[in-house]
This record gives sequence, structure tokens and C-alpha cells, in this order.
Amino acid sequence: MVQKSETIWFDGKQVPWDEANVHVLTHALHYATAVFEGIRAYECADGSSEVFRLRDHMVRLVDSTKILGIKMPYTADEMTEAAIETLKVNKLPGAYVRPLVFVGEGAMGVYPGDNPVRAIIAAWPWGAYLGEDALEKGISVRCSSFSRHHVNVMMVKAKASGNYVNSVLAKNEAIADGFDEAILLDTTGHVSEGTGENIFLVRDDVIYTPHLDGVLGGLTRDSIISLAGDLGYEVREEPIARDMLYVADEVFFTGTAAELTPISSVDRRQIGDGKAGPVAKLLQAEFFKIVKGENPDYEHWLHRYQA
Ligand code: PMP
Repeated sequence: MVQKSETIWFDGKQVPWDEANVHVLTHALHYATAVFEGIRAYECADGSSEVFRLRDHMVRLVDSTKILGIKMPYTADEMTEAAIETLKVNKLPGAYVRPLVFVGEGAMGVYPGDNPVRAIIAAWPWGAYLGEDALEKGISVRCSSFSRHHVNVMMVKAKASGNYVNSVLAKNEAIADGFDEAILLDTTGHVSEGTGENIFLVRDDVIYTPHLDGVLGGLTRDSIISLAGDLGYEVREEPIARDMLYVADEVFFTGTAAELTPISSVDRRQIGDGKAGPVAKLLQAEFFKIVKGENPDYEHWLHRYQA
């Protein structure tokens, strides 16, 4: 269960949590005409707080509305301000922040016409997405029987609600089969991403990740690529076949919710020694230092605020 906060920003106003409701004929509820973001705010070591890459997330949100052809009523800057306001009003020093832009009620056909476009930003405390243990010990994953979207079926650059039906199918299947998470292959059989994470592998100290064509442009992915480069690693963005996972020294997921989660086995094949590998451990430790405001070299990624 989500831990309730006091208010949710809804169409420009702070509304009590229990009153932030919509009509059942909301267009988005029927046809998934909605886009969203997942953002994390962290409490820093010095007592301040920061939202990690906040504006970049809001730019991606606006980009998602462009891809879906939704008329976005707010700019990235307005959404950035509204997110900070929501964190402050709810006195949240650390939180998961969820903006959602969706087509409201009006016309009921597939064509949304002039239905109003509505927006919310909710924020609530949220711990490790795949469990605290997962960050240290790693998780078991399977390659899903479902393929990730073909780029001309559902456009993956959009963080569109409809894209997540595919994620839910893969996640349900993985959990039912006793795994923690799924890896989706694309329609050519290459590795794409997790249900809500990007994926990396390490082989002979070189880091590999699928190129951006068929995956969401994760901001954690982008941060880890920069960080790994700064730490002297070679990072290659290229097509990855499934068997590359099986022979990898390390495999890990990145995402706002998942942060950097090591993968201990793929399809029941142990990866490395079945624990977080040295590269994942180093990148994870450095990533946590950055998001907790302990590395001034990356201060430009932090939007500081006082809860
Ligand atoms: N891929 C998918 C499908 C996701 O849902 C997410 C989470 N937003 C990611 C990758 C990682 O993106 P980010 O690092 O920006 O959270």
C-alpha cells in the first residue's frame, strides 16, 4: 500500500489526498491516453533534500506528451516548480514523486478530441523498489515470453501508461514463475530492458547496454553511463543477444525506483559468483553518494530543497 501524504497537486492546486479523484469515463482509463514520470527525492547527509535530475524528468514528461500527441498544459519548468511545492507542502524530505498527465472525460471514442488534459503530481515515501536485500544480494530474473514493443507499435521513448501493459504481463509471469523480475527481449530477440528498468552487463571490465532505439531513455541509465565513463570504464551501447547475459561477469538493472540493482541469476543460470559484482558495487556506492549530495562533481544533477 502506498503511504498517503496530505495533498496531491491536481491541475494546478494542492488537493487533499482522498479528494484527488476522477470520473470513471476518463478517456485515459479506457484507452491509456496518459504519460507519467517516476522521480526520487533523497534526504542528503547535510540535512537538506534533493530531487534527482528533476528537470530532466519533466522534460521527458513533456517529450512523452509530444510523442502521444497530448496537448500538454504545463511547461517542464512549471512541472518542476509544482513538484517542489508538493514535496514541501507534504513535508517530505525523501520521496517517490509521480507526475501523470492524462486525457480527461468528454468524448468517449478513441479520438480524444477536445477532452481536457489533466495533470497530477503525487509524492509519498517509498523504500527500495525490489527490496533492501536486492540492492546488496541481487535478484533472480527470467527472459520473458513476452517481447518488448516494436518501435513502430508502441513508441518506447514515451513513458506512456499503455506501454506498461506489456510490463505488467511480463512482471506477473516472472513472479508467478518464482523470479523477482523479467528481462524483455525485443522483436528481433535482442535484450531490451526490464519491466521498469534499463539493463547493463559487464564482461572483462567493459560495460555494455542496449542502444536507445528500443528502450526508454532512463535517466539513471544516462547517469550511470556518465559516472562509469568518469571512473575510467569503457561503456558500449550496442545490440546484446540473450547469450551475452549468460556469459556476463555481472548484470544489473538501473532505474529511478530500482536505483542500481544487481542481478544474481538469469533464467536460473548464476551470474558471476551469484552476488553483486565489483563493478556494480562500485557504481552503486558512487551513485548513492551522488544522490545523497556527497559528491560535488555531480551537484548539477540535484535540485535541492528544504522539506
Ligand atoms: N525502462 C522502463 C520501462 C522504465 O519504466 C524505467 C523507469 N522509469 C526505466 C527504464 C528507467 O528509467 P529511469 O532511470 O529514468 O527511471
